[in-house]
Amino acid sequence: MKSTRCLLLLAATCLGAQTTPRATAERLRTEAFRTHGAYADLAWLCDHIGPRLSGSPQLDQAIAWAQGRLKAAGLVNVHAEPAMVPHWVRGRESAELLLPAPQRVNLLGLGGSVGTPEGGLTADVVVVGSFDELDKLGAAVKGKIVLFDVPFKGYGHTVVYRHDGAAKAAKYGAVAALVRSVGPVSLDTPHTGAMDYDPAYPKIPTAAVTIEASAQMRRMQDRGERIRMKLEMGAKTLPDAPSANVVAEIRGTEKPEEVVILSGHLDSWDVGQGAQDDGAGTVTAMEAARLIQALGLKPRRTLRVVLWTNEENGLRGGKAYRDAHRAELGKIVAAFETDSGSERIKAFSLDLRKASPEAKAGALASLKKLGGVLEPFGSIDLRLGGSGADVSPMVAEGVPGIGVGHAATHYFDVHHTHADTLDKVDPDDLAYNAATLASFAYALAQSDMRFQ
Ligand SMILES: [Zn+2]
Repeated sequence: MKSTRCLLLLAATCLGAQTTPRATAERLRTEAFRTHGAYADLAWLCDHIGPRLSGSPQLDQAIAWAQGRLKAAGLVNVHAEPAMVPHWVRGRESAELLLPAPQRVNLLGLGGSVGTPEGGLTADVVVVGSFDELDKLGAAVKGKIVLFDVPFKGYGHTVVYRHDGAAKAAKYGAVAALVRSVGPVSLDTPHTGAMDYDPAYPKIPTAAVTIEASAQMRRMQDRGERIRMKLEMGAKTLPDAPSANVVAEIRGTEKPEEVVILSGHLDSWDVGQGAQDDGAGTVTAMEAARLIQALGLKPRRTLRVVLWTNEENGLRGGKAYRDAHRAELGKIVAAFETDSGSERIKAFSLDLRKASPEAKAGALASLKKLGGVLEPFGSIDLRLGGSGADVSPMVAEGVPGIGVGHAATHYFDVHHTHADTLDKVDPDDLAYNAATLASFAYALAQSDMRFQ
């Protein structure tokens, strides 16, 4: 018994003595796969809280829950930093084709949309494939519902129709705007998301229809058929609501004022469970810190977890953080954000907005010196590129952002839909991601590296 304890002590001492960055990364990986803590947290978040739109009681619950989990993991300075957020509510919504033949259409109102008049509105539908086509039709769409039937050619390329479609259609007197869901595939699943009005034109109701419904209405129009729809939406915007970013730290032992941020956003849309967007990023950031804490690693610089509020429809969390932390922005060494799902990390991209091309190349060369710690995780690309929406207000002020690039092969299949649920998440992918992020961020916190 006694000799067993001695052996265990000896083993622990040996493990503690393995201080090469790569050995540390391997220990973090082993701990992540032993505990699968990120998946357990995500399951709890999805099953006990569910979707977490800004202004909802569910988001408040998630903010309280995350603080509890971070305290339980042994992090310090755990607190919520206030931000006022938009408070949009969906209400009841439905759409029905009346002509050429009656049938129900599956839709999701877009975040920020106004509702229809009480009892709904009924109008003819005009299908267009681009803003140019709409411009050519001009006043011919007056009094009609415009449907933007634009196939998915990458998120950035197509999302502009969701975001600006209502404003463009309202300019010509349309009474509502529909958009083909922004996603590559569909099982009759509409995708919601943010939109904006142009103050120069009336606010008209706007919603996403499924790829199936969009293609169907395109066929009907191509045959010269009259398409008539009844649309009912109870959406409204209430006064701004109080919310908060969640913050927690592992304080640095030598340079506590220098900070490496690990982050994801706690809010989601009001459909599905917000599992991929961005429950996955949230639990990955939390778990990365927990792994470091669990192994008793003591970073020289401070590691700070930030779980953002209101990424989806306002970025108020990211903006409030920038404003509250203006005095220390120069001490933030880098801000990681993971917000592209749960599939395996394939790249880290360094986002420097105020550096010359030569300085960016130099900074990337520095970052690559840390690449050895990523060897236990296979091939991970280190490159220049974008970081994340929530960190973007800080990054615009010169804070180096680091985007966490996930494989995302199926991310946009379920993004902003009822299908963004836990069953699409692989527990091993989450463990891998948490260990990868922990290893890289810890190595950065151990270094004296600065990027600008
Ligand atoms: Zn997101």
